[in-house]
Amino acid sequence: MPGDSVRGIKTIADLEAANLAPLDSGLSRVADKYAIGITPSVLELIDRDDPNDPIARQFVPTLDELVTTPDERADPIGDLTHSPVEGIVHRYPDRVLLKAVHVCPVYCRFCFRREMVGPQGLGTLSGAQLDAAIGYIAAHSEIWEVILTGGDPLVLSPRRLRDLMERLAGIAHVKIVRFHTRVPVVEPERIDADMVAALRASGKVTYLAVHANHPRELTAAARAGFELLMAGGIALISQSVLLKGVNDDVDTLAALMRGFVENRIRPYYLHHPDLAPGTGHFRVSIAEGQALVSALRGRISGLCQPIYVLDIPGGYGKADIGAAAISGQDGCFTVRDWQGGEHDYREG
Ligand code: SF4
Repeated sequence: MPGDSVRGIKTIADLEAANLAPLDSGLSRVADKYAIGITPSVLELIDRDDPNDPIARQFVPTLDELVTTPDERADPIGDLTHSPVEGIVHRYPDRVLLKAVHVCPVYCRFCFRREMVGPQGLGTLSGAQLDAAIGYIAAHSEIWEVILTGGDPLVLSPRRLRDLMERLAGIAHVKIVRFHTRVPVVEPERIDADMVAALRASGKVTYLAVHANHPRELTAAARAGFELLMAGGIALISQSVLLKGVNDDVDTLAALMRGFVENRIRPYYLHHPDLAPGTGHFRVSIAEGQALVSALRGRISGLCQPIYVLDIPGGYGKADIGAAAISGQDGCFTVRDWQGGEHDYREG
C-alpha cells in the first residue's frame, strides 16, 4: 500500500490495503471491540510471506479474538480492586502503578488491559485527576516506587513527561520511577535526547522496562534507543509475555533473553498470558511454560533467566511460577535439575 510504511495502520481498511487482511474478512467485528494499531517500524518487521509470522501474530487482529472463555475477564489482574483514586493502582505496600494515559503506539492482540486501552478506552487523566493521583502518592509515605504504565506512558510528549517527573521529584519518599513501555521497540524514533532527559528527575532513579516478545523486535533502531537511554543514566530491564505461536519454543526464548543481555537489558519478567477476553489462542499451559523456563536454565547463562510470573486473577498480585524445582519435607527434599533428573537433598 503506498505510504503504509510512513503512517502505520489504524483501521481494517488500512490492513486490507496493506495486504494484511483479506477483503470482507469480518474483522470489523473485532475492530468494534478492540483498538488496532501497527506502527511503521512494526510494519517493516512483518514478513508478509510467512502466514505464521510471530510479529504479525502479535499485532494483526484475527477472528479468534471474538472467542471468549468463561474464565476470561475484562480486568484480568484486578486493577480496579486496588484503585483508590483514578489512575492509581495500589496493590503492594511500597509501590503504585500510575496510569496517566490509556493509549499505545501499537495495540497488542493479547493485551491484558485491552478493555481499558485505545481510543474508546479510559483516556488520559485530566489535570484534576492527575493532581489527585500525585496527591495520593505524596500522602502515602510508604510508596517507594512509582510505576508508570497504562497504556504506554512514552506516548506522552517529553514536555508532559518532564512535568510529571518534576512533580514526582518533589516527593521525598519516592526513590524509584519505573516506566513500562513498548516505545523503544515499536516507535524507536521517539527515543531522542529530549525524551531521555524528560525521563530523569532530580534525586530519583529511573528504570525502564522494555516490552519485547521476539528477538526480531530488537532491531538496530531499537538498539540505538537503548544506548541513548543507558547513556542518559536510565537502567533497563525487560518484560515479555509467553505467547503461543510467538515465543513458545526454547530457541526463540533463548535468543530473546540473550538479545536483552547483549544490549545490557536485565531480563526481568516473563509473564504467563493473562485471562483477557478473546486471547485464548495465545495461551500456553502453565506446565508448558514451566518446561520452557526449565530448559532455559540449562541452556543459557544465569544472566539471561527471566522470572516466570502469573498475575493471580482478581488482583492478588504476581506469583513466581517457574518450575517448582524442589519438593519434600522434614529436611528431606527432591531437587529437579534442568533436564528433569531428580536428586535427593538432605538439610544438615
Ligand atoms: S503496549 Fe501494553 S498496554 Fe498497550 S496494547 Fe500492548 S500490552 Fe496493552
